[in-house]
Amino acid sequence: MVKSVDHIGIAVADLEEALKLYTETFGLELQGTEVVEEQKVKVAFLPIGDTEIELLESTDPEGPIAKFIEKRGQGIQHIALRVDDIDAALDKMRAEGIRLIDEKPRYGAGGARIAFLHPKATGGVLIELCERK
Ligand code: ZN
Repeated sequence: MVKSVDHIGIAVADLEEALKLYTETFGLELQGTEVVEEQKVKVAFLPIGDTEIELLESTDPEGPIAKFIEKRGQGIQHIALRVDDIDAALDKMRAEGIRLIDEKPRYGAGGARIAFLHPKATGGVLIELCERK
């Protein structure tokens, strides 16, 4: 069902500052940025091979990324697993009793269809299922 690690989401307090590390020090290329209003976040995309790092900076003190940093500090916030058919993947999760955050896929950065599983059902890891066309 899972094809690859689509991306790793990292919560950062200051996107410009974080980008210096990933572009200047690690030599990754910034592919672009996007504000996802629904999630109150600005995302920067840094591809590495078949996957990518997404740096996430909150655009709102009440947003999920701001709250994450408040509670746990900066760091890895979620891992996204790529699936071919997110509707079928969600049906499978439901059938296996996995608690979902998103009952239906929603819009994700880069035009993906995404849905989060509840970390209580996945050993404390926030897992995002991600379908790309
Ligand atoms: Zn993500």
